[in-house]
Amino acid sequence: MSDPAVVVLRQVALPLAEKIAGAIGARVDLRGRDFDKTLTHIGDLFLAGQPVIAVAASGIVIRALAPFLSDKWSEPPIVSVSESGSAVVPLLGGHRGANRLAARIADLLDSTAAITTAGDSVLGVALDEPPGDWHLENPEDAGLATAALLDGARARLSGSAEWLAPLKGRVIFDPAPDADAPLVLRVEGAEPLIYRRQSFVLGVGCARGCSPDEMIGHVMRTLADAGRAAGEIAEVISIDLKSDEAAVHALARYLNVPAAFFPAERLEEEKPRLLSPSETVFREVGCHGVAEGAALAAAGSDATLVIPKTKSANATCALARRGGNASMGLSRGQLSIVGVGPGQSAWRTPEVSRLLGMADELVGYGLYIDLLGQAARGKIRRDFALGEEEDRCRYALERAGEGRRVALVCSGDGGIFAMGALVMELLDRPIDAGGVSDAARRSEIIHAPGISALQAASARAGALLGHDFCAISLSDLLTPRETIVRRFKAAAEADFVIAFYNPVSRRRRTLLTEARDILLAHRPADTPVLLASNLGRPDERLVVRDLADLQVDEVDMLTVVLVGSSASRRVSSGDMSAGAGGTWIYTPRGYARKIDGDLA
Ligand code: SAH
Repeated sequence: MSDPAVVVLRQVALPLAEKIAGAIGARVDLRGRDFDKTLTHIGDLFLAGQPVIAVAASGIVIRALAPFLSDKWSEPPIVSVSESGSAVVPLLGGHRGANRLAARIADLLDSTAAITTAGDSVLGVALDEPPGDWHLENPEDAGLATAALLDGARARLSGSAEWLAPLKGRVIFDPAPDADAPLVLRVEGAEPLIYRRQSFVLGVGCARGCSPDEMIGHVMRTLADAGRAAGEIAEVISIDLKSDEAAVHALARYLNVPAAFFPAERLEEEKPRLLSPSETVFREVGCHGVAEGAALAAAGSDATLVIPKTKSANATCALARRGGNASMGLSRGQLSIVGVGPGQSAWRTPEVSRLLGMADELVGYGLYIDLLGQAARGKIRRDFALGEEEDRCRYALERAGEGRRVALVCSGDGGIFAMGALVMELLDRPIDAGGVSDAARRSEIIHAPGISALQAASARAGALLGHDFCAISLSDLLTPRETIVRRFKAAAEADFVIAFYNPVSRRRRTLLTEARDILLAHRPADTPVLLASNLGRPDERLVVRDLADLQVDEVDMLTVVLVGSSASRRVSSGDMSAGAGGTWIYTPRGYARKIDGDLA
């Protein structure tokens, strides 16, 4: 988890914030000149997975975060500290570090940490969140057991573990029946809690396209036959060729553990230890056994197989007990093509923020990564210039192929005149025709949609997209000029509202004028045209012109041009900050003609 950010809302709280930041090695993030911006900022930090210490009233922080609360397992710790320093409240992520952080700050300020999670404040341990290599089989029963313990119910624990030591005095500790037995905490009035140590790794292999049900069924039967429990498995391991195999990932999700992969050469090193080596497997994938080899490779050189390979029609599995030098394979890489919206962070989806937060590396046009501000902090980034689109996508795919989580940052929507399609093209090409490596092809690809410039433009100025519309890019780099002209002739004839993307470039300035002249033959000279530049960015500019007055010099590369249909209209507002300089423009839903005009 990254370092916490200490955020202040009011100047008076700055010395306190600096004291906290100094003591815990964090930084003071914003000096809170603008209240709304600070609230948005706290939301952005949260979505980027960053721990936050807000020197501000809890209510303010709760309001800032309320729209984004969803998943308690992945949220970062959030602590609020009163401006006087007299109270420290871990608001969210108590068990993910907020309680600890709050206790530390309270200690520093000589005040009180308001720890409210039942388990650790009184019991000294959270029964529903055992440490790293332990698994609670029935987390749904932990609440009742905790409450009963707090009420003084009688309880016994069979087996012992360091992390349960705080229960001494409340619970009678019995010896475990055998070394492999689970820890069982029996609290009167509640279901027994069963904790298992995740001491095993599961190696799996399968035929291409094996059904997830078959894989899961085979594994569960094998475990049951051997008297082992699913909760004892720490990870699912296979060969890298299987890193895109749905059944392997479905199994890992089912067991709620990570999946990791080794290359064939590494698995082949395990040949001497395999119990059932196979020449056929060697010919197919380059090692003599996938399931056993993978389990042994991950479990370590002093590990042992406890379940040799078993096989169903299409799946194999083997189980090894982890030794002292267990090693993790590579995770499957991930490439997310994220549309970060036109500019401001409030126009970014929570999914995109989450993917950015998870990414190891950001790849994109430098300006777009810069726009992310806080969300890009602390990430490896690789900037590419305009024009280097293919290199950018290839690089992103190959980095994902090496097991990284890469976010390919696009403005607006990543699938609209952006990198989404180019990534698909590269995957669609054979390697000798400029495609990408097999490893890159096996990475997980996620397209995360965003708000495109046309939506932002229409919304800022009213509702110009209220009826049928189309989008045309005027970039003639990849599209022949005649095709572009044919498209705007067709759109003009069909009376679509049109969004022109890439309206000009440094060397290409005439197409927009050509479009205007063609359109003028089909719609009125006073048809509203919206020139929207730098939407959602500090120098945003919105201008409405009559179609006949559209001048290319008013337009640059950071402008999207929306031309109304013959039905589009203007409404003026008394408020000069409404719409584009006091004018709203919209296209009515029904495609009736302009009512007043026609009646007159
Ligand atoms: N994927 C982007 C489009 C990229 S093409 C999207 O969905 O919005 C680049 C063109 O998009 C620019 O030439 C401009 O026409 C438009 N554009 C992108 N961001 C913009 C913004 N913030 N303001 C105005 N136009 C923008």
